[in-house]
Amino acid sequence: MSSDPTIVPARRSGKGDPEADEAVYAALHAAILEGRIAAGTKLAETPLAEAFGVSRERIRKVLHRLVAERRLEAVPNRGVRVPQPTLDDVRAIYQAHRVLEAGVLRELAEKLDDRLLGELRMHVGQEQRAAMERDRAASVRLSGAFHLRIADALGNAQLSAMLRDLLTRSSIMVSVYESIAESFCGVQEHGAIVEALARHDVERAIALSGDHFRLVEARLQLRPQPPKVDVARLFGPIGEAGGEEPVRS
Ligand SMILES: [Zn+2]
Repeated sequence: MSSDPTIVPARRSGKGDPEADEAVYAALHAAILEGRIAAGTKLAETPLAEAFGVSRERIRKVLHRLVAERRLEAVPNRGVRVPQPTLDDVRAIYQAHRVLEAGVLRELAEKLDDRLLGELRMHVGQEQRAAMERDRAASVRLSGAFHLRIADALGNAQLSAMLRDLLTRSSIMVSVYESIAESFCGVQEHGAIVEALARHDVERAIALSGDHFRLVEARLQLRPQPPKVDVARLFGPIGEAGGEEPVRS
């Protein structure tokens, strides 16, 4: 489980600037989300600008956006880095999510109808497909969306907002700590929660949801970190950037 509540789809406006921003954003976002950059790694403007073949201003803009989305964190006087949540942070976020979802499932069981059940099953089917196709980005996005779908079904904007916030933070942890192979384990767990709801066995659904969060948390803690690499070497010049001038330094 994890999430992507904040992804903004790439624009195709035909104008050069937004497309170049989106290309840089998409490359960095994917690298963070897919866990290719070790936790705590500093992202400096100049080497990234050189790697992408764009200006430092453009890199700065994209880094600010990723900070605003909490994909990256700004450290006073030290620039921007990939977050490095502690195990205590991980524990706190998953406990909060587990407690919240237990309440959500209890409420949801009261109003689960065939239409919603069908939607949830379809969602789990999409997750299974993404897992089979080893589409890591889709898996991460869909697994977060599963938990949002459950919460959104209650129609409570406050609850949905709280959950989105938790998911944004847990998605960072997943991308920082969870390995690619392990990220495909959660689909059956989501499916089991849905099937328990379908049988009107709310206690079982809550127990499965609790187990799910404990498993996700345990999986996170086991992951060896990717080696610290020269981040800029992960990226190459962006193609049809449309008139962007390379960095001068
Ligand atoms: Zn999940």
